[in-house]
Order: sequence, then C-alpha cells, then structure tokens
Amino acid sequence: MLNNRFGVNEKGNLTLGGVDTVELANTYGTPLYVMDENDIRNNCREFKSAFDKYYGGNARVYFASKAFSCKEMYRIVESEMLCTDVVSGGELYTALSVGFPAEKIGFHGNNKTPEELALALDSNVGRIIVDNIYELHNLNAMAKDKNKVQKILLRIKPGIDCHTHDYVKTGQIDCKFGFALENGEAVKAVEEVLKMENVELVGIHCHIGSQIFETQPFVDAADIMVALAKNIKDTFGITLSEINFGGGYGVKYLETDKPVSKDESIRLLCEAVKTACETYEFPLPALSIEPGRSIVGDANLTLYKIGVVKNIENVRTYVSIDGGMGDNPRYALYNAEYEVVVANKADKPRDFVATIAGKCCESGDLIQEHTKIQTPEVGDTLAVLTTGAYNYSMASNYNRIPRPAAVMVKDGEARLIIKRENYEDLILKDI
Ligand SMILES: *Cc1c(COP(=O)(O)O)cnc(C)c1O
Repeated sequence: MLNNRFGVNEKGNLTLGGVDTVELANTYGTPLYVMDENDIRNNCREFKSAFDKYYGGNARVYFASKAFSCKEMYRIVESEMLCTDVVSGGELYTALSVGFPAEKIGFHGNNKTPEELALALDSNVGRIIVDNIYELHNLNAMAKDKNKVQKILLRIKPGIDCHTHDYVKTGQIDCKFGFALENGEAVKAVEEVLKMENVELVGIHCHIGSQIFETQPFVDAADIMVALAKNIKDTFGITLSEINFGGGYGVKYLETDKPVSKDESIRLLCEAVKTACETYEFPLPALSIEPGRSIVGDANLTLYKIGVVKNIENVRTYVSIDGGMGDNPRYALYNAEYEVVVANKADKPRDFVATIAGKCCESGDLIQEHTKIQTPEVGDTLAVLTTGAYNYSMASNYNRIPRPAAVMVKDGEARLIIKRENYEDLILKDI
C-alpha cells in the first residue's frame, strides 16, 4: 500500500495505524478525517534529526500549519519541539490558545491586516515574514507605537520555476508573494529596512512551491539565497543570520509518486548551502524550513459512506459519497490525485473504474475521476487516502453541509480531536 501505516485486517477491512477504519466510520460517523499520530510525530523527528546530522542542528523546522490547523495539531508540534508558521490571525489565535510559545511562531501572509499585525506584535511572535513594502512601513510604525522592535525576514521570490501545479507555484516573478530579485525590489527593501528603527532584519525567506519531487529547485534556491545574503553584506555591511527555505516537500498520493526522503532532501539542502557559503565566502547561516504537507500529508484518510452507484451506460459510473468538495476541494481546485479504496473490501482487487462524486450541487464536485476501486455497493465505506494536508483546513460549509469530525489514531486507539459540526453550528452566526 501507499504507506506502511495502511493495512488490511482479517475481516478484509482497511486499517490505519492498526485501527479498523470501518469500525471508525461506524463509531464516529462519516465523513470522517482520520490521522495517524505516530506518523506525524515521525515526520517531525525525521526533519529535525536530518538537520542534526547534516547541519549540526543549527536549524528550525516550522510546521506550516495552514496544511492542518487545529488545537491538537499545535500541541503535537509543540511537544515535538518544532516551531510553527501561521498565515492569518485565526491560525495565530489557535496556536496561542494552547500555549504555543510565541517566540517559535513565524507569521506569513501577503496582505496581513492591521488587526493581524497588532495581534502578532502584542503576542510577541518570534518572526514576521514581511511580504511587501506597505507591510514593512505599517509594521515599523505599529511597532514604534508599541515601543517594540520586531524581528523580521523578507520574503523573496528567487525566480525559480519548479514543476508543480500553477496554483501552488510561488517562486517565480509573476506571483503575488514577496519581493522579486530580478527587478531589484529585494535589495531596495533591505535599504528601506535599514532606515527603520522598530524592525530588525534577521534574514531572508523563500518558498518556491508545493508538492515538489525534484531536488534541483531547492539546490538552486540555496545558491540564489546565499548569493543574495552576500550581496546584502557587501552592499550594506550587515550579515544576515537566518535563511528560511519554506516548504514544498512532496508526499506520495499515488503508487507511482516517488517523493525524495526527508533525510535526502535536507542533506541536499544543507550541502547546497555549505557549498554556496564557501563560494561566496559567507558565514553559515541558521537554516529554517516550513514543511506542511510532508508533516501531515501521508498517513491519513477520509472515510465516507457510499449512497448511490449510478452507472451511465458507455459513459461512466458515478459513485456518490456523503461528503465531497466541502471537506476536500482539492480535485475541484487543481485536479489533485488520490488513491481510493472501498474500506470494507480492502482485500479485494481494485478493478472497477469509478468517478467519485460529492453531494454538492456542482457538477465539478468530484473527488476523483476514472479511478480504480473495489466493486462499490450502496452502504460501503469509501476511503480516500492521503487527505491529511489541505483538506480539513480548506473545508467549507457550501450547501450548508456541516464540516466532518476528525480523529487521531495512535497505537491501536482512536480519539476525537475535532467534533463534527451540527445544524445548530451552521446558524450560529445568522441574525
Ligand atoms: C504553504 C506554505 C508552506 C508549506 O508548504 P508545503 O508544500 O505544505 O510544505 C510553507 N511556507 C509557506 C510560506 C507557505 O505558503
């Protein structure tokens, strides 16, 4: 199977982390997000230990919490001694609500509102990654009012075009995030910062995209970012002590996907940084990365009940489930691929070609088209694998469908971490 955390038990049911997923569906209802805690913790540790091995531990791993933001996730990340990044006041508020240390939070966003910046300053977040010149001026003025000096990084577009979906590419000049290198914006921003008294420039940041399987873009980024740090040193006489390379490490959605291991990704990054530092005669900076998908993305799934099997002769068979784009908009957004399994027939061959349809009033509400599953019947439990990242966090109440519950499995036990919404929740804010 896709990941060694998935299995099949003697009943022929799909298991995750040793727990029977069909029983989970019966106990907690469907749709249901199921995440494997040990897998998440292992992912955190793999990144950390790779930096220990290849960079003497002079690194910070920030979990990019937009991939999966809820209280329990911040608790787990904190207990693994990782940092976290947030991209909104809401994510920041959630992290702080469980006592996540503010110093270990990095705050991102291309249009942080004054209220969000105030919350970040008041709660003493460790780093604000400044996206643009307006933000820089606002932040400096606000920090001045509050009598603070905020540590910042500048978000740089390194001009790297990696091979991934257009909607998740973020390194090229035509992108809404950050300061471009090609047109001198980045260096100009540094010049501005150095005139300011209430922001302290500690480093530079880039994030080139998401679900990247190649290693070369990260190696190129290392060279470009160190060269920029050197250029800043020569031009302004300041030595930046941090470079943050963002996230983007791919996970295995399909059997045919071949992601690079975390150990290897980090080894290559560290080597590329060391090489560049030698070339440009620049002292080794502290490194940071911001993996999201690769922390929560792989050993997890969403469970649904099949309600309708509609065969349209010579066209296709629609298998309709009790969820859809409301709990997983990724196929509708960017044709994201998934493996799909009939959880109560997991020991049977997947030889039936189906289109998995959600229950929203949209023809585009599909989870997967022409995918191979076991012969589906009404009442079966359907599992869509690898839904831990960008599913719950992207969920909506479209068609006033309540958002699903989430459970965490660990060592053969399951526990609820997010309650299922009910109809009352849906009208709570209506007047
Ligand atoms: C989305 C994002 C990440 C995480 O990306 P993954 O592909 O999930 O690892 C990290 N940093 C920034 C700035 C992001 O926008």
